[in-house]
Amino acid sequence: MDISDLLDNLNDVQREAVAAPPGNMLIVAGAGSGKTRVLAHRIAYLIRTGEVSPQEILAVTFTNKAARSMRERIEDMLDMPVRQMWVGTFHGIAHRLLRAHWQEAGLPQGFQILDSDDQLRTVKRVLRSMELDEARWPPKQAQWFINAQKDEGRRPEHVDHHNAAYELQMVKIYAAYEEVCKRSGLVDFAELLLRTHETLLKNPGLLAHYQRRFRHILVDEFQDTNTIQYAWLKLLASSGNPMFAVGDDDQSIYGWRGARIENIQRYTEDFANTQTVRLEQNYRSTGNILSAANALIAKNDGRLGKNLWTEGSEGEPILLYAAFNDLEEARYIISNIQTHIDHGTVKSEIAILYRSNAQSRVLESALQRAEIPYRIYGGQRFFERAEIKNATAYLRLLSNPHDDASFERVVNTPTRGIGERSVQVVRDMAKQNQCSLWQAAGEVIASKSVAARSANALQSFISLIEGMTTASQEMELFEKVEHMLQASTLLATHQADKTEKGAMRAENLEELITAARQFENEEEELSELDSFLAHAALEAGEGQGSEGEECVQLMTLHTAKGLEFDVVYLSGLEEGLFPHRMSLDEPGRLEEERRLCYVGMTRARQQLCISYAEIRRLHGQEQYTQASRFLSEIPDEYLREVRARASHSAAVYSGGTSSTGWSAPQQIAGGFQLGQRVSHAKFGEGVVTSSEGDGAHARVQVNFSDYGSKWLVIAYANLQAV
Ligand code: ATP
Ligand code: MG
Repeated sequence: MDISDLLDNLNDVQREAVAAPPGNMLIVAGAGSGKTRVLAHRIAYLIRTGEVSPQEILAVTFTNKAARSMRERIEDMLDMPVRQMWVGTFHGIAHRLLRAHWQEAGLPQGFQILDSDDQLRTVKRVLRSMELDEARWPPKQAQWFINAQKDEGRRPEHVDHHNAAYELQMVKIYAAYEEVCKRSGLVDFAELLLRTHETLLKNPGLLAHYQRRFRHILVDEFQDTNTIQYAWLKLLASSGNPMFAVGDDDQSIYGWRGARIENIQRYTEDFANTQTVRLEQNYRSTGNILSAANALIAKNDGRLGKNLWTEGSEGEPILLYAAFNDLEEARYIISNIQTHIDHGTVKSEIAILYRSNAQSRVLESALQRAEIPYRIYGGQRFFERAEIKNATAYLRLLSNPHDDASFERVVNTPTRGIGERSVQVVRDMAKQNQCSLWQAAGEVIASKSVAARSANALQSFISLIEGMTTASQEMELFEKVEHMLQASTLLATHQADKTEKGAMRAENLEELITAARQFENEEEELSELDSFLAHAALEAGEGQGSEGEECVQLMTLHTAKGLEFDVVYLSGLEEGLFPHRMSLDEPGRLEEERRLCYVGMTRARQQLCISYAEIRRLHGQEQYTQASRFLSEIPDEYLREVRARASHSAAVYSGGTSSTGWSAPQQIAGGFQLGQRVSHAKFGEGVVTSSEGDGAHARVQVNFSDYGSKWLVIAYANLQAV
């Protein structure tokens, strides 16, 4: 592509930004307005015009996937490889710098990266060495504290602890953790950034080198930079090298992880003569989708404000589906997807988005039943998640205590003071006696082959499993699961951890109870528990499309940032789920949830389908939900409500009778009639509008005066005729 071609497929404002003379630039613009496209074109333009060579560019993206596609786009435009160009995430770039300058950074040459799970395990060891009680000082909380400090650029000595007991203890843990990392040459994610920043500051020669080298710095998704990332950019650009930042304040969704939306405002103050550009034309979504998203985000205060429009057609209205329950929601979504596939939509152009990872399980099952290949991004499949594997390991031991793999997995999970050394003694004993670890453990205790403390801990594990086995003998499957989660303290451990991750893990465990409740044993020769475990093991390894295969895309809303798809399903629009209940008390966090909804809606090019379930079994129990407030914030004109599939259906009765087409009242399940007035203890009075199913599953739809339309199972709803 030559320069004029490169500029040709841009609109006037985009072209102006791409071809601007070198200088600081800030592009604040809404979703789908071409920010990422402009950034890629800018890089190609700078190289093509000879302003810079590829190695003089530093480009920062939010994910590795985005970095790869950015590089590919630029190579396409330039028709040459640009391997020397630095394009990556903040973490990736920091890592590269530390590898190159490990000596200046004070690291051993072969330093190792600690991922988040490794980090947690290290924190746990630190707590143990300090003889701190994990119940009082949850490791997750300590991990969160450490990372939050590092993200703000603070070492232990910089933390303002106000002499408060909690902070003082946390600072001690932080310092002890740092000691361990230093001794073992370990670097966690937050450390990558902080250490790079410190290294550059301490080594003026090195800093000068990179300031000279990176003559142009470009940053995508600028609204989600945190304090240390911002400081880092400022440092590298401080010799006056131009910065080109693009972002959207309406899409700032990582405040809970330390991102600072204020960085957008600070930018124009900190970087001299910044030219601010606004892009207002959206190229991604249909008119309906865009107008609906604009109306929603207008409910937030303190926005920079923008006016997005499209030349594209109005398109289809947004589909709104009120499902009877979560299973039915999944069925609807999957059957709708099937229709799109039958009409030629490419599977990878279809995405299902959800607020919480736990929602994926029901969707996964439905996809597997329909034999539609899918892939989950940025999260693990339900039965592969660590907390779920721990739980199934306990269940396996209930079924068969001689299952060595499960024994190993949970003998010290949650931690109960059985160290690696004791486990090794058990392993040796098993080898020597040719028996299971379970039997060997008994032998180890009897023969006093380990210290009394370890023997006691082992004994309490054995008693725990035996106790659970006896207690759960007569229980239903879901009760067994529930009992196991409580007795093992797996659930309590995650609940005690007040971080987002902890909440997520606890939710997943509760979701396992739901899975057990909904499980139907189809293999008669197996016990229900064994059949459930077999199902879990199989689901953990199947259904996931292989690399390169066309797959329906499943991901959380957070992971969907920056991406686009022809067809998008936004599921679970229910109060407490989305907006998430953790955000309900804080206006700031509620606005972040609304931005997240805006991000989700604006991923769709052609068709958006929003759904919610009136009953959801999410946290181990069935709950009546209330439709998300976000739905009422989208004007009706952009929505088309799809009615639940019903075997008997009638025009909605609102007191009066329809003049035609209504003869003798139809008798339906439970002795009710369509059009009959009924009352419900919680929802008050309403009119029966349709019904489906029979026997124990028979349900009716009732239009309540105060609560709107709801599906109710007759057997449980205790409806009274009025
Ligand atoms: P987000 O805020 O979601 O990250 P964005 O502002 O980065 O969105 P892009 O992803 O760059 O937007 O662009 C959205 C879509 O519009 C892409 O498919 C892009 O190729 C297309 N697009 C952008 N500008 C133009 C243009 N001038 N002509 C044709 N297509 C365009
Ligand atoms: Mg983008």
